[in-house]
Amino acid sequence: MARPGSYREFSVKTEGPTRMIPFSGNPLDRASEKRTDTGWVEAKRRDPGSLVWPFWRLQPFLFGPEKGNDGVEAGLMKPGLAESLMAPDAPWVFLGLEGERALFAVDISAARDPANEGPIAGLGHFRDARVAAAAINLKDVAIMGQAKAMIDWHQRHGFCARCGTATVMKDAGYRRVCESCEAEHFPRTDPVVIMLATHDGACLVGRNARFPGQMYSALAGFVEPGESIEEAVRRELMEEVNVKVGKVTYLATQPWPFPSSLMIGCLAEAESRDFKCDENEIAEARWVDRATAKRLIAGERVEGLFVPPAIAIAHHLIKAFAEME
Ligand SMILES: [Zn+2]
Repeated sequence: MARPGSYREFSVKTEGPTRMIPFSGNPLDRASEKRTDTGWVEAKRRDPGSLVWPFWRLQPFLFGPEKGNDGVEAGLMKPGLAESLMAPDAPWVFLGLEGERALFAVDISAARDPANEGPIAGLGHFRDARVAAAAINLKDVAIMGQAKAMIDWHQRHGFCARCGTATVMKDAGYRRVCESCEAEHFPRTDPVVIMLATHDGACLVGRNARFPGQMYSALAGFVEPGESIEEAVRRELMEEVNVKVGKVTYLATQPWPFPSSLMIGCLAEAESRDFKCDENEIAEARWVDRATAKRLIAGERVEGLFVPPAIAIAHHLIKAFAEME
């Protein structure tokens, strides 16, 4: 059943391609050439054919019950409902076009309790973006990731990094300008390498001290300035588990809006199975053979050990390794 203001085409639960990684596969035409056309953008913001997704304290609005995932849909609604909840300088972002229909995200963090009072009360609820990703379809997950990353960036970049003056939003949300020193600031994406070391039919997974229980995952770290992806993979594996690797192969990337990472998934051929964990980063690591990797990806626990769910690119790296001949 469609809910008031919901966008049916995006709200039908459909399976994406089997290799679709959550937060990727954004279906919108970003129409970046329109961002500077303020007349066009303002008209689209008022156009009843447009859709607006409210975010409150970085949580997306969702139609449907607060508990569980059944009947939960992306909270895309007609313009004019949520905007009155925005502070005067609150961020909003033009997300892109679906055909002629424009989609926007608006930040209503200034509202006290918008799910229960005001113009959208009773229509749905707000939910942590990571949790919401398991409830809505993959197209909406990708759009949510774009919106969340952009609003998060605005919230953290209200002041000029050069001179400290408050900055002003431009280009439908894709630029901030300092009117004092004229510095321009653009949305940032932080590259992270995430990788499995492999050796003769086994891959190396590690347990970060912060992970829940016995969850083992691919190892990861930020790419540093002046470093290639391959170099970052080699450095991180050396630092975290003292493993020397040769060939590095890129598999896939995942936008990860917590707050602004791009996860770059790789496999790396280890020279041997010797390793030694840096206890500050990795509590434990172990080599897992292909048959075990298949069981882990199927959701089994093996000697208590489990791997991250399909929302994480680590899951897809381990799966890709498990399915190799
Ligand atoms: Zn400045």
